[in-house]
Parts: sequence; C-alpha cells; structure tokens
Amino acid sequence: MNPFQYHEPQSLAETVALLSVETGADAHIIAGGSDLLDEVKEGIIRPASVVSLAGVPDLAGITEAEDGLRIGAMTTIADIAAHPVIRTAYTALAEAAGGLATPQIRNVGTLGGNLNQRPRCWYYRHPLIPCLKKGGDRCYALVGNTKHLCVTGGDRCYIVHPSDTAVALSVFNAAVEIAGSSGKRTLPIGEFFTGPGVDISRETVLEQGEVVTRVNVPRPSDLGAEGQPPRSVYLKAREREAGDFALVSVAVRLDVANGTVQQAAVALGGVAPVPYRATEVEEYLIGRAVDSLDSTHAGTLSIPDARPMTDNGYKVVMANNLVKQGIARLLAG
Ligand SMILES: Cc1cc2nc3c(=O)[nH]c(=O)nc-3n(C[C@H](O)[C@H](O)[C@H](O)COP(=O)(O)OP(=O)(O)OC[C@H]3O[C@@H](n4cnc5c(N)ncnc54)[C@H](O)[C@@H]3O)c2cc1C
Repeated sequence: MNPFQYHEPQSLAETVALLSVETGADAHIIAGGSDLLDEVKEGIIRPASVVSLAGVPDLAGITEAEDGLRIGAMTTIADIAAHPVIRTAYTALAEAAGGLATPQIRNVGTLGGNLNQRPRCWYYRHPLIPCLKKGGDRCYALVGNTKHLCVTGGDRCYIVHPSDTAVALSVFNAAVEIAGSSGKRTLPIGEFFTGPGVDISRETVLEQGEVVTRVNVPRPSDLGAEGQPPRSVYLKAREREAGDFALVSVAVRLDVANGTVQQAAVALGGVAPVPYRATEVEEYLIGRAVDSLDSTHAGTLSIPDARPMTDNGYKVVMANNLVKQGIARLLAG
C-alpha cells in the first residue's frame, strides 16, 4: 500500500478546500472506507491524500422536512434499511439497503459511499490490467469474460452500475445535493450518474473538489396517487444470497387509484453503466386499468435497446422476469 496523507477536516468548507483542484489533485474522499480502502490496498488507485468526512458536522442522519426526506451522505446503509419511514413509505429503498453487501459493510458503509463506489468489473479491479477506465488503451473484458458486463449503454467500457440504493432512489425521483468550491448544486439522481460515452474515467458528474452532502426524496404524498404513499418493491438476482452484487436488480413504484395505474417508475441495476430507467415499461403501465394489465408483456419492454454479448444474454431474460415479478407483487398488494 502506498503512503498517503490523512486529513480529518471539521467543516464542509475545510473539506472542499482540501479536495480542491489547486490543493487536492489525487485527493480522495473517505467515508466508511469499505470501497476506497480496497482500491488503495489493491493498488488500483494511489491517492496522495485521503480526506475523511467523519468529522464534518450534519452529514449523517435522516430528517423529515416539509418537502420530503433528507438523507445525509454519511448516513449508514444499516440506518437507511432500519428507518421506520423509509420502510413504510419508500419500501424499495429499505429493501435495497437491507439486502446489499453484508451486515458489517452495511454498518460502516454510507449512502454517499454507496452512490460513489467504483465499478466491480474484474478487469478494472485487477491491479495489473491497464484498462481504458484506468487510462489504458483497451477494454480487456470485451475479449475476456463478458458475463457481468452491461447489455446496454456501453461505449468502449462496459461496466454495470453497482449501487443498489441508487437504483431504488431513482424510482422516488431523488435529488443529489453537492457542495464544492463554487457553492452548492442539486441534481436529479438521473443526471448525477454518467456513462462512459461522456467520460470513460468516471461514473458521476462530480468534479474534483465536490462532495455529495445529502440526498433529498420527495414526500410520499407527492409521489403517490391521491396523496397515498406509493407502493414499491426492490428485487435483486445474484449468484450468492449474501454479500453479493446484483446480476440484475429492479425497483418498481406503482400508484394505483380507481383501478387504474396513475403513476409508475421502474429502474434496473446491473444492466447498464448507470441506473437504467425502463421508460417503455412505465409508458405501458401509466393510465392502464389494472384488470387489463399484462405484467408478462410489461416485462418484455424492460430493455428494448439491449445488445447482449456472448455471455450476458441471460441478463435480458432476468430483467424481463424481475420487472414482471415486481409489478405482479405490487398489484397483489
Ligand atoms: C463484499 C462486498 C459486497 C458488496 N455488495 C454490495 C451490493 O450488493 N450492493 C451495493 O450497492 N454495494 C455493495 N458493496 C459496496 C458497498 O456497499 C460499498 O463499499 C459501500 O456502500 C461504500 O460506502 P463507504 O462509506 O464505505 O464508502 P467509501 O469506501 O468510503 O467510499 C467509496 C467511494 O465513494 C467516494 N465517496 C464517499 N463518500 C462520498 C461523498 N459524500 N461524496 C463524494 N464521494 C464520496 C469515495 O471517494 C470512494 O471513491 C459491496 C462491497 C463489498 C466489499
């Protein structure tokens, strides 16, 4: 492991200054450290300095505000999974958080770290493989094992988005708050993540020096039809039941009133470099009478632009089935 300087700033301003372009080249944020330290130990990154968020006030915790829920970036995944309001009104998020990784990782891992974790592609994670994402000259996965690669959205790099919470937050129209040297900005979660076609070296729009401070989720009554909290579910297919990333995951939110789907949101993980919004499924569902709704057909609309590779065609079938199951489960109540 390479030596690095460790900083523990006591304010957001100090943090941003330590990370800024002038002072912070090769400076990395550390939250729970469950992903960052792996990257350092495995020699994938060699930070000159590591800036901890542990001493920065007001970054941890979940508060209910007038316009919705505010989840601080340093809130642990375990706290999100256990929060009573999240469990009842944002069920897909509680399920995504409660089912990810292992209890140990959920206890130290934070929301900010989960959203900003780096991809799990074997080739990116191998210290001796200079893949495109690490400044190399080719994607080695393409001529290797394509089983875990994306089926849509790839562009020279074919990673899949790894964060379960990001997929769940997508169906609640969450917004990501960011602080940097030029102030604060807030982005819809769909605009926070970027694919390799935009910049192959990163997965979000965060600039050097910027920190995610919290995630805002609209009030349940603003998401649900007729003021009712929406029904939502998170389903995840993986190779091992514990401590494993999604092969494919799906978050579904449905609002049904008077026998008709009023609103619907469907997002997929494990299929694209960013959380993938299944807009054709949403269009099929919205305004449809529940009696005439064919969840099997809805499932087939999951990834219309899928272009599977040699070993990952199973992901399309899996996505279709998970979407079908998610819808059926919510309609069954
Ligand atoms: C065995 C194993 C299984 C796992 N399974 C899953 C799984 O099934 N699903 C899943 O979603 N995840 C899974 N993970 C990933 C795990 O959830 C993440 O490691 C964890 O959430 C990261 O949180 P952290 O606070 O430890 O982040 P850190 O390791 O501290 O940071 C991770 C990254 O985010 C950046 N970062 C941290 N906080 C901020 C912030 N506020 N603003 C900007 N950047 C920030 C860091 O610089 C770093 O690049 C697994 C990890 C392991 C080791």
